[in-house]
Amino acid sequence: MTEENSNKPPVTIKKSTSKKTSIHDNIEETINPKKVETDNTISFDALSKLLSTNDASGFYDITIPSLGKTYSFKQLTVGQQRSISKNSEDFKDRELQTKIRLGIIKQICLDKDIDPEKFTWPEFVYTLAQIRDNNFTDDIAFTLTCHNKDDEGNECLGKFDYTVDLGSIIKKLETVITEAININKSYSFEMNGHNIEFILNYPITKKYLDMINYGSKFKTKVNDKLEDAEDLSLSAFAYSYIRQIKFDDKPVEGSMYNNIEALSKFIDSTFKFDFNDYLIKLDENFKQYIDVLNITTTCPKCGKEVKFSLDIDDFFIRS
Ligand SMILES: [Zn+2]
Repeated sequence: MTEENSNKPPVTIKKSTSKKTSIHDNIEETINPKKVETDNTISFDALSKLLSTNDASGFYDITIPSLGKTYSFKQLTVGQQRSISKNSEDFKDRELQTKIRLGIIKQICLDKDIDPEKFTWPEFVYTLAQIRDNNFTDDIAFTLTCHNKDDEGNECLGKFDYTVDLGSIIKKLETVITEAININKSYSFEMNGHNIEFILNYPITKKYLDMINYGSKFKTKVNDKLEDAEDLSLSAFAYSYIRQIKFDDKPVEGSMYNNIEALSKFIDSTFKFDFNDYLIKLDENFKQYIDVLNITTTCPKCGKEVKFSLDIDDFFIRS
């Protein structure tokens, strides 16, 4: 969960502990499988084999438009539920957590050729939302605290429960990822009499991972210059949207597109353009995805708007 307005967050969120169905209920279901006979004994090995046999009733399909593929997935085991639910605030942990989630997607997919690192970031988020929807409860419950201020500057501090309807988030994400395959965005500028064009689309998950890695590496290297590191991770984030560079309509070819650190350094040291203008264009062009995860509700105590944005960690809240 990230809060809008980092200076004065209008709301704080506490993960709710009073859900109707908790992860523990799912665990209960998993350790009491209906298929295991109780009047005879069965070995651990046989039990494991019996339960790992594909049972089509528990499958669900997820379609990834950018790859033009539909994959079938199995239900999560208790251990996988636990691993996928580990939340993290730390930069470095986020990379590890993303890798764990990528690994689980591979484990539970019936198609062993699946490569979720090639999913675009919104497709990865969509896949995790679908996994949450098919393995945990449908709705995500939060307890919000309102930090809106009255005329005298006193915080409202009203506490109220808010439930996110995951089904509607999934539908909106579906629209975003379906429309993204036909997305035709670019950013152009003139330099030394030449036309430079960046062809843009959502970064694939691999690039997103590289970007976190680059950002965290730099943070440790220059820990006394945190601002520099943040600037660099911001540019790495912004350049991760570049699918191709065109020079006077000629595509620039090479492997550098797959190395966000090298690409960032190249762009920063080669081109002259208004970086803030580029950020604004990115924001305009890819706003649809960001908007899906932004939630606005009303505080029942003061009647003012309360805003927050969903994070993928919120899909796997553990009580
Ligand atoms: Zn309030």
